[in-house]
Amino acid sequence: MAKRADVVIVGAGIGGLAAAVALLTESQLSQTPYNITVLESASEICEIGAGIQVTPNFTRLLDQWGLADEIARTGWKPGQVKQVRWQNGAELTKFPLNRDDRMKNQFGYYYFHIHRADLHGALMRRAEQLGTKMYTKSNVVKYIPRTENSKDTVETVDGRKFEADLVIAADGAKSMFIKEVLGTDTPAEPTGDCAYRGMMRRECVQDPAFEGLELENGSVVWLGHGAHIVGYLIRGGEFYNLVVLMPEGDDIQEESWTLKGEPKKLKDFFETWDPRLRKLLEMVDTTYMWSLRDRPALEKWVHPTGNLVLIGDAAHPMLPYVGQGAASAAEDAAALAECLNAVGERHSLRDVLDAFQKLRIPRAFSMREAGRRNRQYFHFPDGQEQRERDQALAKESETSSTPNQLNDDKVLQGMYGYDVIKEAKALFEG
Ligand SMILES: Cc1cc2nc3c(=O)[nH]c(=O)nc-3n(C[C@H](O)[C@H](O)[C@H](O)COP(=O)(O)OP(=O)(O)OC[C@H]3O[C@@H](n4cnc5c(N)ncnc54)[C@H](O)[C@@H]3O)c2cc1C
Repeated sequence: MAKRADVVIVGAGIGGLAAAVALLTESQLSQTPYNITVLESASEICEIGAGIQVTPNFTRLLDQWGLADEIARTGWKPGQVKQVRWQNGAELTKFPLNRDDRMKNQFGYYYFHIHRADLHGALMRRAEQLGTKMYTKSNVVKYIPRTENSKDTVETVDGRKFEADLVIAADGAKSMFIKEVLGTDTPAEPTGDCAYRGMMRRECVQDPAFEGLELENGSVVWLGHGAHIVGYLIRGGEFYNLVVLMPEGDDIQEESWTLKGEPKKLKDFFETWDPRLRKLLEMVDTTYMWSLRDRPALEKWVHPTGNLVLIGDAAHPMLPYVGQGAASAAEDAAALAECLNAVGERHSLRDVLDAFQKLRIPRAFSMREAGRRNRQYFHFPDGQEQRERDQALAKESETSSTPNQLNDDKVLQGMYGYDVIKEAKALFEG
């Protein structure tokens, strides 16, 4: 890459903004200057989304990028996770997160719940502060590989062209760059599940009717046939956030975070569930729904030219069953920034991007598989498998090994204890 490299990032989601912040943070440390341009199709970057998990492997990166204080202020530190039976909210298991500083002691960093808009806003302000040029209303429609006379170029729908030494495609699960990288289209297919999200003020959950559920102590997860619901506080504890994972039904909707959901569908589906859960759902006046898509793992993330790389949901859409979608996008960003430091006499950009994908593909795959296992495990119908699961959950506090991917010590060590920057550094040592 040139001494002062032009980097164009397509997409200003968590992945794209994290890439800008990670590269510019590295640039300050290593004196490798970058010109970073972020192109975002949306007309404005505004308050969209709901609660999102910032697990210790992600907090570690936010700390590195100078955002730890802001995340601690706008997020919420859940004390515990409590998993309960669908029908009556009876406790199946309860395990600590930040209580007694478990996460900090075990993995070095806290676990937060945060509104996506707060996390997104923090990354955007930091990216701009570090010098990123940000363009909204910039829907990229074309990638033109470099020629003798020009660098790699991306073109927006209104004909503007942006040249780059490196293009980072962070344009989400429906990425237009997948076809460019693989040569064939691999669309994400519906999984049959969708996610509804809703929020209410904290005072709503302070009703004595909810006593015993411990709603303010951490997250509460109702497990039932084909569905589960997670509730937790966000925004410094100001709001209570509900995420409902349930079958989509026949009327498969488009994949969009701004699509309003039909509250009646929730009421109908959960009619026979814990009355306290139904009371909570009654209090959600606006819901948004998102059709959950998945696609087979991509075998490569780097374009044959060696100057274009996929990251985040573009490379690996993640189902939200272990809360690693945003964390994985951030890990990609951090790994890429660290790997790019190695470009020089010994390693070409192509070598470095190859090393990057070799590190990241298996990691993203294993997070995805953990999510798939939890989807199955959380959604058993009442019967033999559900009884065995509930017995295993009841014993969880006595054992460190459980099929529950959110509380198995070995899985957590791999997931939350992972230091992606250290792993990326190690690729080029020696
Ligand atoms: C609006 C929104 C709200 C979300 N809310 C939640 C939430 O509440 N909880 C949760 O767990 N997860 C949420 N997610 C998903 C979560 O943020 C992502 O799964 C994860 O962070 C990975 O991020 P990403 O940057 O790879 O992809 P994304 O977050 O999908 O970001 C991709 C970005 O690229 C832009 N883009 C797409 N195509 C083009 C193009 N051709 N040209 C230019 N720009 C393009 C999109 O507008 C988007 O801003 C949300 C995602 C979005 C986009």
